[in-house]
Amino acid sequence: MRKGVCPYCAGTVSGALTEEGGGLEEFNERVYSSVARYVCERCSWSMHCGVPFALNMEPAVVSFFHDHGIAIFDRHPWSIYQYADDRVCSRDPWRVEVTCRIDGDVLRIVIDGDVDVIETAIEAAA
Ligand SMILES: [Zn+2]
Repeated sequence: MRKGVCPYCAGTVSGALTEEGGGLEEFNERVYSSVARYVCERCSWSMHCGVPFALNMEPAVVSFFHDHGIAIFDRHPWSIYQYADDRVCSRDPWRVEVTCRIDGDVLRIVIDGDVDVIETAIEAAA
């Protein structure tokens, strides 16, 4: 389901941020400020998800959780929302900041309009 390879036809999947669908509450009764949309260029498979969910497999996210004793892969994918928050910094160009908080430590990730990570920073608890 991730950007890169289509789960159905192995075609190329491209990611983009959109506000469309941001009002959808069927995910987990939450209204998103922005939504990551993935589209397969071959079979037109697509999915929408909240931005933190889209970052579930980002190495910076996985290692941050790992460092705090949480194996994110062993959990329900939505469990990231327990720790993560997203905020739209800019719409032109798209910049969305996702913040994960565990035990006072904070991981900040900024993504661009292609749902690519352009910045990561960890602020350790004081
Ligand atoms: Zn496909």
